[in-house]
Amino acid sequence: MNVKKIEKAWKGILAEIGENPEREGLLETPKRIAKMYKEIFRGYDLEQAPNITTFENGHDGIIYDNMIIDTGDFYSMCEHHCAPFFGQYYFGYIPDKKIVGLSKIARLIDYYGARMQVQERLGKNVVDYLQNILHPKGMILILKAKHTCKSMRGVKKDGIMTTAIVTGIFQNDLNARQEFLQLIK
Ligand SMILES: [Zn+2]
Repeated sequence: MNVKKIEKAWKGILAEIGENPEREGLLETPKRIAKMYKEIFRGYDLEQAPNITTFENGHDGIIYDNMIIDTGDFYSMCEHHCAPFFGQYYFGYIPDKKIVGLSKIARLIDYYGARMQVQERLGKNVVDYLQNILHPKGMILILKAKHTCKSMRGVKKDGIMTTAIVTGIFQNDLNARQEFLQLIK
């Protein structure tokens, strides 16, 4: 990421929207934005990709064959408007031979969220990655987010969007799905 080029581009944008990029309050803004982009768009830097280790199911003396659930916050950037969307994720899986530390789910969502995204692809990035390393019996990932591009502009609706990605057991087993929804309530 070329910080100088981003600074220059942002100076141009500020001038075009009717601002004076040279006034006191804005003087450092392009530099601050460029610095922020290094963090919030780190998802393009493969070297910063999280290193997710898995464990044999049973390595700690317990075989996990029930649902394991993790929920938390996430942030990303809408690729249509370069405006943030953010909210909660609800992840559940039923392991087979491998398990993963739950803190890793948040790290994956953070990493793939640090790109220009649409909510559906963000979910798919995470689920595809986990599918490859875990081959679980089933996964479900619900993302519920407020899209500021919807709440700030146009019809100014509240902009809440919910997407779900469902694999394996969760696709056919209504009870498993019900149980998950009950547990995240
Ligand atoms: Zn948008």
